[in-house]
Amino acid sequence: MSRDIIDEHLIAGLHVVALERGGYPHEHAHPHVAAQVGTISGLLEANYDGTLAMEDLLQRGDFGIGTVDGLAGELMVLDGEAFLADLDGDVSPVPGEVTTPFAVVCPWEEGSTVTASGLREELLEVVRELGQGHPVLAICIEGTFKQVALRSVKRQSKPYPPLVVAVGEQHEFREMETRGTILGFSFPAALGGIEVPGEHLHFISNDRHRGGHVLDFDLRQGTVTVVIVEDLHVEVPAGFVFGKPEANQLSDIKTVEGGR
Ligand SMILES: [Zn+2]
Repeated sequence: MSRDIIDEHLIAGLHVVALERGGYPHEHAHPHVAAQVGTISGLLEANYDGTLAMEDLLQRGDFGIGTVDGLAGELMVLDGEAFLADLDGDVSPVPGEVTTPFAVVCPWEEGSTVTASGLREELLEVVRELGQGHPVLAICIEGTFKQVALRSVKRQSKPYPPLVVAVGEQHEFREMETRGTILGFSFPAALGGIEVPGEHLHFISNDRHRGGHVLDFDLRQGTVTVVIVEDLHVEVPAGFVFGKPEANQLSDIKTVEGGR
């Protein structure tokens, strides 16, 4: 079953399709289509139980970010492989049977690339220029970083606390003079409730040893690549109602995403 929920009414040029479980139409990745599992609203309400196996997530895209069952860390999907950064930022491969309650992936394609260096805000300006006004962008920043400020989260046990409580125990740390990749997406505010509004970026080092959710960074030398996402397919639990998040949810999202 498939329903057009938001379509152009809210976001010009982006098709958002909600799909209840079992109605997922694509076993394969489609160009310029991002697949979203779960919603940020679900996470805020402590729905940390995984609903889709990693091996199935990877069928929907070889590039993306998220978390895994129990909110056990920060997920990075790069070149078709899934990695998890634990609370300390130590990275390990994610077995195919591990499930995710919240992730977004797309097939990585040749996008628009420029060489660049600089601080987060400067590079996000570059991202916006490359994105040419499109509301959803896949972002990949590769190179040598003077520093990357990261955070990760701890596996939660039941009864699950709300996300604002869970991230109160987050661990913030900094990688210095590291080579790696920052990957993620930019989403418009109109997708509030489904995704984190603004840029949502994770980092993984080239040696695949370190990673996490990006709070800030300074790129010494590298490249910025942007791929335009035209459709967003959201897999939601039955009965999920789309809408703008409540004002208190927006402030919760700001809290959990570091207020940036
Ligand atoms: Zn994150």
